[in-house]
Amino acid sequence: SDSQVWKAVDHYLSDTLQEDDAVLSAVLKANREAGLPAIDVSPNQGKLLYLLAKLKGAKNILEIGTLGGYSSIWMGRALPEKGRLVTLEHHPAHAKIANENIKIAGLESKVEVIEGLAIESLSVLQQTNDAGFDLIFIDADKPNNPHYLRMALELANPGALIIGDNIVREGKVIEENSEDPNIQGVRGFLELLAEDSRIESTAIQTVGEKGYDGFVLGVVKA
Ligand code: SAM
Repeated sequence: SDSQVWKAVDHYLSDTLQEDDAVLSAVLKANREAGLPAIDVSPNQGKLLYLLAKLKGAKNILEIGTLGGYSSIWMGRALPEKGRLVTLEHHPAHAKIANENIKIAGLESKVEVIEGLAIESLSVLQQTNDAGFDLIFIDADKPNNPHYLRMALELANPGALIIGDNIVREGKVIEENSEDPNIQGVRGFLELLAEDSRIESTAIQTVGEKGYDGFVLGVVKA
């Protein structure tokens, strides 16, 4: 079927373009053994986040939705010497595994997991964070995406990159009367991106080992 081909091609591409990485393999293994859902970004998507962070020269990165820290580690690896990544996670068991994984990756001095509801952590960050963020990856509960975007725009530096994952949802994003709060969250998020004159955005559909989905990428005007 189509999805078997997408998966095989995804593996072919990551096998071809990525070296064996004992740390990242151990992280994914630990996540599955701990019973975390397999909703980490794929290896190809993880490397895209890493390359985007490098391209941007991001010194301060914010992630909303940590899970086991797989995407945090990819982006954390792109940070310069004094760079920092803050990642927000509500579920204590996820935050615990993420902290262990971040240590395995040797990134504990650069990557901080803040446990709690992201909305609350974001409002604390608005009050306490002196440096704005250069890259913000939104990947938590989709119904809250419009709120996350509003707060992300307040926390972003001029020129910042804002990325939102899982915005196609097997094509269901076009169901305007959907009663699925995830769909309505994603639609509200995209509408807000379109309306807000501070940011310019585009979205790309993807297929691969995580099925049929997509991401949106916006750049805050300088
Ligand atoms: N970015 C991760 C990766 O690629 O490895 C995957 C994140 S997973 C898709 C979403 C995470 O958001 C889950 O771990 C979930 O517990 C967390 N989450 C859900 N609702 C949340 C909330 N209100 N505040 C903070 N985290 C939340």
